[in-house]
Amino acid sequence: MKENKCKLWRLVCILIVLNLAMGYRTRENIVGTLIYDTYVYVSQYDNYQKNRQRRIENLALLPNISNQGSKGVYVLVIGESETRDHMGSYGYCRATTPVLESMKTDEKMLVFNKVWSCANDTVSALTYALTNKNQYNDLELEKAFSLIEVANAAGYKTVWISNQVQYGLADTPITAIASEAKQQIWLRDKVGHLKDGRYLDVPDYYDEKVVSELENVKYDDKMLIVIHLMGSHNSYRVRYPREFDKFTGGDFDEYDNSVLYTDYVLGKILRKCNDMPNFQGMLYFSDHGEGIDAHVGHDNSNFTFQMTRIPMTIYLSNDFIKNREAEYQILKNNINEYYTNDLIFELMMGLMEIESNDIYNEVNNIMSSSYDKSVERFYTSYGKRRIMDDPAYK
Ligand SMILES: [Zn+2]
Repeated sequence: MKENKCKLWRLVCILIVLNLAMGYRTRENIVGTLIYDTYVYVSQYDNYQKNRQRRIENLALLPNISNQGSKGVYVLVIGESETRDHMGSYGYCRATTPVLESMKTDEKMLVFNKVWSCANDTVSALTYALTNKNQYNDLELEKAFSLIEVANAAGYKTVWISNQVQYGLADTPITAIASEAKQQIWLRDKVGHLKDGRYLDVPDYYDEKVVSELENVKYDDKMLIVIHLMGSHNSYRVRYPREFDKFTGGDFDEYDNSVLYTDYVLGKILRKCNDMPNFQGMLYFSDHGEGIDAHVGHDNSNFTFQMTRIPMTIYLSNDFIKNREAEYQILKNNINEYYTNDLIFELMMGLMEIESNDIYNEVNNIMSSSYDKSVERFYTSYGKRRIMDDPAYK
């Protein structure tokens, strides 16, 4: 832990120097914001790590936790900066998601239409999505169990595959959560010199690389695999190979091409899932959206609701649909209900059938008949903005 902390502070210094050297070309490079964010992230990381042992002991005290959870392989794919507003299957004018579109009539694929992120930056959104802390409870973050901790306690083999940087500003507390996975595959394990969105002195991979990494996973009969993509993180043009340069001549070509490429990668992951022994289901969601129409990234000071309008899909196996028909029907009936991604934790608990009342609140589980659908209760921006205030909420 000490070593990690050291690494992080070293990273802070490197980034500040790099930032100064690169100048203030964009809002994201403002040094003051950088120092403040880094301070917050490092202290969050530190607090979360410090309380790890206590959380694990508390989990072990829960009755029957080690016997909970269904057998099978569950896959959670986390996207990056993808707004559903630019996805063909959600009604966008360009065909940016042909793979998802081709599955429209497949009963195994459920596309959720009214999903928002709980925040509009990676760290904030995923800290809630991957723990039982959410906008609707008053749990302290350091006491919140992470998805990985709970899955470990329930006897799952946990795997984390990431194409994001392990020690980067964008994901430090997420690293704390990921670091508990039994097997970790980090494609970019250190921070390098960032230029035009690319890291120059570390290997830089397109997201498709995670598909081949799935070959390096040893399968177990009770398993949770989390995959963290680079998706549509700026700079968009470096996120996809040239053969995905399909959209040209418009205002959003590079972003739309990155969405097209993510759709292709998700299709490849799905095909891999189908080959996994006892595969049960794959959940995909984006950490947050992107204010692409206003060209404002996902910077809080230029907030637009588009930064929080995200896709969410669930792909289930034939076995799952056959064995858990009632829950499948509830999910299917709820595809047009309101949802925010800080409730992903509850959904994963539901999918994996880990249902201890101490970690799980049924009203937040969209696959439960007790799911609270009332739009009035839903917020984004960590409880500061109502979903009903989004002009596109209906
Ligand atoms: Zn993000």
